[in-house]
Amino acid sequence: MTGNLVVASLSARYGPIRALNEVSFEVPSGTITAVLGANGAGKTTLLRTITGLVCPSGGTARYNGVDLASIPTSEHVRHGVAHVPEGRGVIQELTVEENLRLGGLFRRDRAGIRSSIDEVLELFPPLAERRRRSAHTLSGGERQMLAVGRALVARPTLLLLDEPSLGLAPRVTAQIMSLIRRLASAQRLTVLLVEQNARSALSVADRAVVLQLGKVVLANDAASVAADEGLRHHYLGYQIDGAVHRPSGRW
Ligand code: ATP
Repeated sequence: MTGNLVVASLSARYGPIRALNEVSFEVPSGTITAVLGANGAGKTTLLRTITGLVCPSGGTARYNGVDLASIPTSEHVRHGVAHVPEGRGVIQELTVEENLRLGGLFRRDRAGIRSSIDEVLELFPPLAERRRRSAHTLSGGERQMLAVGRALVARPTLLLLDEPSLGLAPRVTAQIMSLIRRLASAQRLTVLLVEQNARSALSVADRAVVLQLGKVVLANDAASVAADEGLRHHYLGYQIDGAVHRPSGRW
């Protein structure tokens, strides 16, 4: 069952470093929220805390009433949650198809798993061509498709994505973003999309949350964030004309 993700006063530390500071926001069911911010803003920590990989020092991340941050990550799949971590996390030694089958590990309907795998192969033709090759032979973009595809085979209702555009060609990024948009609209998939590529994330998101030094400095609808040049310049470091305003980062 799909539902809202409600993050409330979520905090996390790495020793003395306060990486997340009372972060609160809500992702309504069937919508996409982009989490944006510069290097070190706390985006990955936010996702890792929601997924239980980093222990919170306070707060909750509730999905359908279950605090995801306080249960083992391995339990998340039973609650309809799939996580695509930064760096992709596909198993290099397995074939494309074996990786996809892993996505269905906790499903019981064999026929359903088969048809989900077929759907993913249809969505990503490069994966269909390479279905019997091991994942280590794939390009970065294909591996990202595989990571997203494997998450989809689990048939999630909440999808947590960490930097899906990292290292990808703009065309592949655009394909993945438009797929996420379609799934949110057609299947009421709830999506939390952590991205440093603010432009592409804002192009598909309904809402945006901007982090700075572990705090929410802005939460608004994505179109308003994209349209506000001063704000984009100040927090996100890009302009519509594509000019780069930060010395580092992937803007
Ligand atoms: P990036 O896009 O560069 O990954 P980010 O917004 O995802 O940045 P985080 O990686 O969450 O930011 O980092 C938030 C803060 O926590 C930073 O100050 C970072 O240096 C620190 N940090 C992140 N991971 C660790 C860790 N394992 N140990 C100690 N400090 C960490």
